Amino acid sequence: MKHHCPLCQTELVERHQTHVCPRNDIGDCRYDAIELLNQQSESINAMVAHHPDSIPSQASERVL
Ligand SMILES: [Zn+2]
Repeated sequence: MKHHCPLCQTELVERHQTHVCPRNDIGDCRYDAIELLNQQSESINAMVAHHPDSIPSQASERVL
């Protein structure tokens, strides 16, 4: 089932189990309620998702 942005009618993209407007990424649409909700945690999750293995191992090695 496709979802469409209520503001610009663009087909929404699935991201982190929610749907966001792709045009919001380029500042072309203001449908960003979900983005605002997850803004803080998303930046942390994105960092971990990009380096799921390297971060813990590097961190433990750098403790001393
Ligand atoms: Zn939109």
